[in-house]
Amino acid sequence: MTLERLLRPILHFAYPNVCVVCQSLLTRNETYVCAACQNDFDAFLLPNESAEKMMATLEAHFPKQTVISDAVALYNFHKQGKLQALIHAFKYEGLSRLALEQGRRLGEAILREKRGARFDFIAPMPLHPIRKIERGYNQAERLAKGVSEVIGTPVRELVRRARYAKTQTSFDLAGRLQNVKNAFECDEALNGESILLIDDVFTTGSTMMECAKTLKSAGAGRITIATLAVAAS
Ligand SMILES: [Zn+2]
Repeated sequence: MTLERLLRPILHFAYPNVCVVCQSLLTRNETYVCAACQNDFDAFLLPNESAEKMMATLEAHFPKQTVISDAVALYNFHKQGKLQALIHAFKYEGLSRLALEQGRRLGEAILREKRGARFDFIAPMPLHPIRKIERGYNQAERLAKGVSEVIGTPVRELVRRARYAKTQTSFDLAGRLQNVKNAFECDEALNGESILLIDDVFTTGSTMMECAKTLKSAGAGRITIATLAVAAS
Protein backbone atom coordinates (compact mmCIF):
# COMPACT_ATOMS: atom_id res chain seq x y z
CA MET A 1 0.00 0.00 0.00
CA THR A 2 1.43 3.32 -1.02
CA LEU A 3 1.66 6.30 1.28
CA GLU A 4 -0.80 8.11 -0.96
CA ARG A 5 -3.33 5.30 -0.47
CA LEU A 6 -2.87 5.44 3.27
CA LEU A 7 -3.31 9.17 3.31
CA ARG A 8 -6.30 9.30 0.99
CA PRO A 9 -9.01 8.49 3.58
CA ILE A 10 -7.45 10.87 6.08
CA LEU A 11 -7.36 13.53 3.42
CA HIS A 12 -10.97 12.87 2.57
CA PHE A 13 -12.18 13.19 6.14
CA ALA A 14 -10.06 16.28 6.67
CA TYR A 15 -11.04 17.77 3.30
CA PRO A 16 -14.38 16.26 2.23
CA ASN A 17 -14.48 18.57 -0.75
CA VAL A 18 -11.66 16.84 -2.63
CA CYS A 19 -12.05 14.10 -5.24
CA VAL A 20 -11.41 10.59 -3.74
CA VAL A 21 -9.52 9.64 -6.90
CA CYS A 22 -7.34 12.62 -7.85
CA GLN A 23 -7.63 14.85 -4.74
CA SER A 24 -8.50 17.92 -6.79
CA LEU A 25 -11.02 20.34 -5.27
CA LEU A 26 -14.64 19.49 -6.01
CA THR A 27 -17.13 22.01 -7.30
CA ARG A 28 -20.45 22.48 -5.54
CA ASN A 29 -22.18 20.07 -7.96
CA GLU A 30 -19.68 17.28 -7.42
CA THR A 31 -19.62 14.80 -4.52
CA TYR A 32 -16.71 12.43 -3.86
CA VAL A 33 -15.60 12.19 -7.50
CA CYS A 34 -14.78 15.12 -9.80
CA ALA A 35 -16.39 15.25 -13.24
CA ALA A 36 -13.02 14.71 -14.95
CA CYS A 37 -12.39 11.43 -13.09
CA GLN A 38 -16.02 10.30 -13.50
CA ASN A 39 -15.71 10.89 -17.27
CA ASP A 40 -12.43 9.03 -17.32
CA PHE A 41 -14.08 5.81 -16.06
CA ASP A 42 -14.46 3.40 -18.96
CA ALA A 43 -18.27 3.25 -19.07
CA PHE A 44 -20.15 0.80 -21.27
CA LEU A 45 -21.73 3.05 -23.87
CA LEU A 46 -23.41 0.69 -26.33
CA PRO A 47 -26.74 -0.91 -25.42
CA ASN A 48 -26.23 -4.48 -24.15
CA GLU A 49 -22.44 -4.17 -24.37
CA SER A 50 -21.97 -5.02 -20.69
CA ALA A 51 -24.56 -7.81 -20.81
CA GLU A 52 -22.85 -9.44 -23.79
CA LYS A 53 -19.42 -9.30 -22.17
CA MET A 54 -20.64 -10.72 -18.85
CA MET A 55 -22.82 -13.45 -20.38
CA ALA A 56 -19.94 -14.48 -22.69
CA THR A 57 -17.60 -14.73 -19.69
CA LEU A 58 -20.15 -16.87 -17.84
CA GLU A 59 -20.62 -19.06 -20.92
CA ALA A 60 -16.84 -19.51 -21.20
CA HIS A 61 -16.50 -20.64 -17.60
CA PHE A 62 -19.86 -22.39 -17.15
CA PRO A 63 -20.91 -23.70 -20.57
CA LYS A 64 -24.69 -24.00 -20.99
CA GLN A 65 -25.37 -22.45 -17.60
CA THR A 66 -29.03 -21.48 -17.14
CA VAL A 67 -28.85 -20.05 -13.62
CA ILE A 68 -28.09 -16.45 -14.59
CA SER A 69 -30.42 -15.10 -17.28
CA ASP A 70 -29.19 -11.58 -17.82
CA ALA A 71 -26.52 -9.09 -16.70
CA VAL A 72 -25.65 -5.42 -16.63
CA ALA A 73 -22.69 -3.31 -15.47
CA LEU A 74 -21.61 0.31 -15.55
CA TYR A 75 -17.87 0.27 -16.22
CA ASN A 76 -14.97 -1.72 -17.59
CA PHE A 77 -12.43 -2.24 -14.83
CA HIS A 78 -8.72 -1.70 -15.53
CA LYS A 79 -6.00 -2.54 -13.00
CA GLN A 80 -4.30 0.59 -11.63
CA GLY A 81 -6.96 2.70 -13.35
CA LYS A 82 -8.92 5.51 -11.75
CA LEU A 83 -11.90 3.23 -11.15
CA GLN A 84 -9.73 1.02 -8.96
CA ALA A 85 -9.05 4.00 -6.71
CA LEU A 86 -12.79 4.64 -6.49
CA ILE A 87 -13.67 1.03 -5.64
CA HIS A 88 -10.86 0.92 -3.13
CA ALA A 89 -12.23 4.08 -1.54
CA PHE A 90 -15.70 2.69 -1.00
CA LYS A 91 -14.56 -0.78 -0.06
CA TYR A 92 -11.74 -0.16 2.35
CA GLU A 93 -11.91 3.46 3.34
CA GLY A 94 -15.31 3.62 4.90
CA LEU A 95 -16.92 5.81 2.28
CA SER A 96 -20.24 3.97 2.24
CA ARG A 97 -22.12 6.99 0.82
CA LEU A 98 -19.87 6.84 -2.23
CA ALA A 99 -21.08 3.26 -2.84
CA LEU A 100 -24.67 4.46 -2.43
CA GLU A 101 -24.11 7.18 -5.00
CA GLN A 102 -22.52 4.81 -7.52
CA GLY A 103 -25.44 2.44 -6.86
CA ARG A 104 -27.78 5.19 -8.05
CA ARG A 105 -25.76 5.42 -11.28
CA LEU A 106 -26.05 1.66 -11.66
CA GLY A 107 -29.81 2.01 -11.12
CA GLU A 108 -29.99 4.55 -13.98
CA ALA A 109 -28.12 2.09 -16.23
CA ILE A 110 -30.58 -0.69 -15.29
CA LEU A 111 -33.53 1.56 -16.18
CA ARG A 112 -31.89 2.34 -19.54
CA GLU A 113 -30.72 -1.18 -20.38
CA LYS A 114 -33.44 -3.37 -18.93
CA ARG A 115 -36.55 -1.52 -20.04
CA GLY A 116 -39.61 -3.55 -19.17
CA ALA A 117 -37.72 -5.93 -16.88
CA ARG A 118 -39.57 -6.80 -13.71
CA PHE A 119 -37.71 -7.54 -10.48
CA ASP A 120 -39.33 -8.64 -7.25
CA PHE A 121 -36.27 -8.20 -5.04
CA ILE A 122 -32.79 -6.74 -5.16
CA ALA A 123 -30.39 -9.07 -3.32
CA PRO A 124 -26.91 -7.83 -2.39
CA MET A 125 -24.03 -10.29 -2.45
CA PRO A 126 -23.46 -11.01 1.24
CA LEU A 127 -20.29 -10.19 3.09
CA HIS A 128 -19.15 -12.47 5.88
CA PRO A 129 -20.23 -10.99 9.26
CA ILE A 130 -16.58 -10.74 10.35
CA ARG A 131 -15.70 -8.69 7.29
CA LYS A 132 -18.79 -6.54 7.85
CA ILE A 133 -17.61 -5.77 11.36
CA GLU A 134 -14.12 -4.96 10.04
CA ARG A 135 -15.47 -2.71 7.31
CA GLY A 136 -18.56 -1.34 9.03
CA TYR A 137 -20.85 -2.06 6.09
CA ASN A 138 -21.35 -4.33 3.10
CA GLN A 139 -20.47 -2.34 -0.03
CA ALA A 140 -22.77 -4.53 -2.18
CA GLU A 141 -25.65 -3.70 0.17
CA ARG A 142 -24.89 0.04 -0.20
CA LEU A 143 -24.81 -0.32 -3.99
CA ALA A 144 -28.09 -2.27 -3.84
CA LYS A 145 -29.70 0.50 -1.78
CA GLY A 146 -28.66 3.08 -4.39
CA VAL A 147 -30.11 0.91 -7.17
CA SER A 148 -33.31 0.46 -5.16
CA GLU A 149 -33.76 4.23 -4.76
CA VAL A 150 -33.74 4.60 -8.54
CA ILE A 151 -35.66 1.56 -9.76
CA GLY A 152 -38.03 1.24 -6.79
CA THR A 153 -37.53 -2.49 -6.16
CA PRO A 154 -37.04 -3.43 -2.49
CA VAL A 155 -33.69 -4.73 -1.20
CA ARG A 156 -33.89 -8.03 0.62
CA GLU A 157 -30.85 -9.76 2.10
CA LEU A 158 -31.87 -13.18 0.81
CA VAL A 159 -28.49 -14.89 1.02
CA ARG A 160 -25.86 -15.07 3.71
CA ARG A 161 -22.36 -16.46 3.93
CA ALA A 162 -22.35 -19.99 5.29
CA ARG A 163 -18.63 -19.88 6.03
CA TYR A 164 -15.61 -17.65 5.73
CA ALA A 165 -14.37 -17.97 2.14
CA LYS A 166 -10.96 -16.45 1.42
CA THR A 167 -10.80 -13.47 -0.88
CA GLN A 168 -11.05 -14.64 -4.50
CA THR A 169 -8.20 -12.53 -5.87
CA SER A 170 -5.43 -15.04 -5.10
CA PHE A 171 -7.07 -18.01 -6.87
CA ASP A 172 -7.22 -19.23 -10.46
CA LEU A 173 -10.64 -20.26 -11.81
CA ALA A 174 -10.58 -23.81 -10.41
CA GLY A 175 -9.45 -22.43 -7.05
CA ARG A 176 -12.18 -19.79 -7.13
CA LEU A 177 -14.86 -22.40 -7.74
CA GLN A 178 -13.60 -24.57 -4.90
CA ASN A 179 -13.25 -21.59 -2.60
CA VAL A 180 -16.89 -20.49 -2.98
CA LYS A 181 -18.51 -23.92 -3.19
CA ASN A 182 -21.44 -24.05 -0.75
CA ALA A 183 -20.39 -20.66 0.59
CA PHE A 184 -23.96 -19.32 0.65
CA GLU A 185 -27.24 -20.09 2.35
CA CYS A 186 -30.76 -18.82 1.79
CA ASP A 187 -33.27 -19.26 4.61
CA GLU A 188 -36.24 -17.96 2.64
CA ALA A 189 -38.66 -20.08 0.65
CA LEU A 190 -38.95 -18.37 -2.72
CA ASN A 191 -41.62 -18.97 -5.31
CA GLY A 192 -40.36 -17.99 -8.74
CA GLU A 193 -39.48 -14.40 -7.84
CA SER A 194 -37.32 -12.43 -10.26
CA ILE A 195 -34.10 -11.43 -8.46
CA LEU A 196 -31.56 -8.72 -9.23
CA LEU A 197 -28.29 -9.83 -7.62
CA ILE A 198 -25.81 -7.01 -6.95
CA ASP A 199 -22.04 -6.95 -6.42
CA ASP A 200 -19.22 -4.46 -6.97
CA VAL A 201 -16.90 -6.20 -9.44
CA PHE A 202 -17.56 -9.08 -11.84
CA THR A 203 -14.44 -11.09 -12.78
CA THR A 204 -15.09 -14.75 -13.67
CA GLY A 205 -18.60 -14.65 -12.24
CA SER A 206 -17.88 -17.73 -10.10
CA THR A 207 -18.96 -16.13 -6.80
CA MET A 208 -22.18 -14.68 -8.26
CA MET A 209 -22.85 -18.00 -9.99
CA GLU A 210 -22.57 -19.90 -6.70
CA CYS A 211 -24.82 -17.35 -5.00
CA ALA A 212 -27.35 -17.56 -7.85
CA LYS A 213 -27.39 -21.37 -7.55
CA THR A 214 -28.27 -21.01 -3.86
CA LEU A 215 -31.14 -18.66 -4.78
CA LYS A 216 -32.38 -21.07 -7.44
CA SER A 217 -32.32 -23.96 -4.95
CA ALA A 218 -34.46 -21.82 -2.65
CA GLY A 219 -37.03 -21.40 -5.44
CA ALA A 220 -35.98 -18.16 -7.18
CA GLY A 221 -37.14 -17.56 -10.75
CA ARG A 222 -35.19 -15.45 -13.24
CA ILE A 223 -31.87 -14.10 -11.94
CA THR A 224 -30.20 -10.99 -13.35
CA ILE A 225 -26.80 -9.87 -12.10
CA ALA A 226 -25.73 -6.23 -11.89
CA THR A 227 -22.28 -4.95 -10.95
CA LEU A 228 -20.49 -1.65 -10.90
CA ALA A 229 -17.59 -2.96 -12.94
CA VAL A 230 -16.46 -5.83 -15.15
CA ALA A 231 -12.82 -6.92 -14.95
CA ALA A 232 -11.25 -8.74 -17.87
CA SER A 233 -10.92 -12.45 -17.12
ZN1 LIG B 1 -10.84 13.53 -9.69
